[in-house]
Amino acid sequence: MDIEEVVSDFVSLKRKGQNLWACCPFHDEKTPSFSVAPHKGIYKCFGCGRAGDAISFVEEHDGLTYIEAIKYLAQKYGIEIEETESSPEAAQQQSERESLYIVLNYAKNYFVKMLSENDEGRSIGQSYFRERGFAEHTLQKFELGYSLDQWNAFSKEALANAYSEDLLEKAGLLVRKEGGKKYDRFRGRVIFPIHNVSGKVVAFGARTLKKDDKPKYLNSPESEVYHKSKVLYGLYQAKQTIRQHDNCYLVEGYTDVISLHQSDIENVVASSGTSLTTEQIKLINRFASNITVLFDGDTAGIKASLRGIDMILESGVNVRVVMFPEGEDPDSYSRKLGTSKFKKYLANNVRDFISFKLGLFSKEAENDPLRKAEAIKEVVSSISVIPDPIKRAVYIKDSSKRLEMDESVLVAELNKLLIGKRQKERKADQPPPVTEEDPIASVEESKKHDHNSLIYIQERETIRLLLNYGHQELDEDYMLYHYLLDELKDIKFITPIFKTIYDIFQQGHNEGRVVDSQYLISEGSAEIKKEVINLTTERREVSPIWHDKYKIYVPHEKDSLDHTVFQNITRLKRNIIQKLIDENKENLKEVSDMTEIDRLLDIQKRLKESEMELSRVLGIVIPK
Ligand SMILES: [Zn+2]
Repeated sequence: MDIEEVVSDFVSLKRKGQNLWACCPFHDEKTPSFSVAPHKGIYKCFGCGRAGDAISFVEEHDGLTYIEAIKYLAQKYGIEIEETESSPEAAQQQSERESLYIVLNYAKNYFVKMLSENDEGRSIGQSYFRERGFAEHTLQKFELGYSLDQWNAFSKEALANAYSEDLLEKAGLLVRKEGGKKYDRFRGRVIFPIHNVSGKVVAFGARTLKKDDKPKYLNSPESEVYHKSKVLYGLYQAKQTIRQHDNCYLVEGYTDVISLHQSDIENVVASSGTSLTTEQIKLINRFASNITVLFDGDTAGIKASLRGIDMILESGVNVRVVMFPEGEDPDSYSRKLGTSKFKKYLANNVRDFISFKLGLFSKEAENDPLRKAEAIKEVVSSISVIPDPIKRAVYIKDSSKRLEMDESVLVAELNKLLIGKRQKERKADQPPPVTEEDPIASVEESKKHDHNSLIYIQERETIRLLLNYGHQELDEDYMLYHYLLDELKDIKFITPIFKTIYDIFQQGHNEGRVVDSQYLISEGSAEIKKEVINLTTERREVSPIWHDKYKIYVPHEKDSLDHTVFQNITRLKRNIIQKLIDENKENLKEVSDMTEIDRLLDIQKRLKESEMELSRVLGIVIPK
């Protein structure tokens, strides 16, 4: 697959030297830092760091899964793909999913047709949409429809078109009761088709137009293709704009989404029918790192949704909030104000979530010490879930001012929560996160983190050298990777991705195969690919802009390779030894048995000696 051809379908590339350049399609920029290297079959953005091959480009650009991306490319370029032989069960499941997509699409077309061509659809359905101000192109964009007010108008037609009753039931379109009674699920309702991220209809939401009919909104049940916790209404129509703005508006209902489109705001989705789930947040996060939640104007509803927002913070996404006046929702208010005034309202009233929450609680807390304590707990608990320690520190400072509370009180509360969280995590047997450094955590904790992040850096450097220079000769018939394999015999990598890459090298070597970065890029998992591309493009490839503008000269590390590799391996060993020393110290604290203490002290002595020796080699003097 020609990467140049694939990428140029989405962005216009300009050749400069060996590579092609463009403004990055994944982040907002004015000067190009997105490059494609056709001879290597990869792309890399020097601005946001995204990198990959043709398949991962399509995956990321269109928010597809790996399989979907391959199918897209195969279809586009007329390549036949060998489907690996699947088990009969998997094959059946696959064909069932495909049948569901087909019948759901058929139903969608039927409902659309009823809305525009049937008398009932026109007089009832269309006039409802017109009343809400939905234009014709909006009806088309969201494929809105209407289901006739009859028991089996739809299923009669579907059965006549050779769709089976079983399939209609599985798709949630037909309800079969015991005793043989059966009828259409959606009757006398306007229809909102729900699309998955690649645009296939997976379910329907349906609103009744009769006053006393319940429920007001009726949704398809879950099915093989519809898991409501993993779908966001409007995402398919919004994803391009969400990426361009790096922001996604989150609203409550179908009509909120559509009204905002009518107001020329297209980066909007709704988590209709469920409270927000982590899967949905991940889905948004594929396209943007900012979410703006639009709240209806009633305080009770807001307090109920605060938990959901902590979940967004936890995923590292930035959260902002806009609140509407009492009794208004995004749908009603956008229609009331009109496009330009509504946009202005959003811009003027958007607030950072933590300060929003502060405002919400501190108003109540004025002059009431008990309420104030509650406010502190509430706000700090939201701050504690934010993964970025720098952001946490900024929020703590800010909050202490707004609550007129000493900063140390808030830090103490925060540390309590963080340590509690860690203990829970450790109980769940998860290793502590490797790269996160935490300025406000206790000293013991941060020391452990230091070791791990130093080891991470050296492991990464080891793999980088292996990938870039593994096949360079250090001596006659002695390649750099021979040296690394020898030196690392007794060492286990801690970082999973580096361990995986290293194991592939080692296995290849044992089996007499050549493993190099090309091999890993073409055969490795998506995660491996990304890592390998990052490690093989950094440092060596300086963006031509730098060359042209700043005349930066990059010395060839090839020139002093043996020195570089030796230093790196020695540092890695030293970091590992230091980690072991600290762990051993911890163990010593906990034992009381004399022979065990002796044994641990002996280990300590030998570890110290090794550390000393390695430090000496590195030219580091440490006091005895
Ligand atoms: Zn970029």
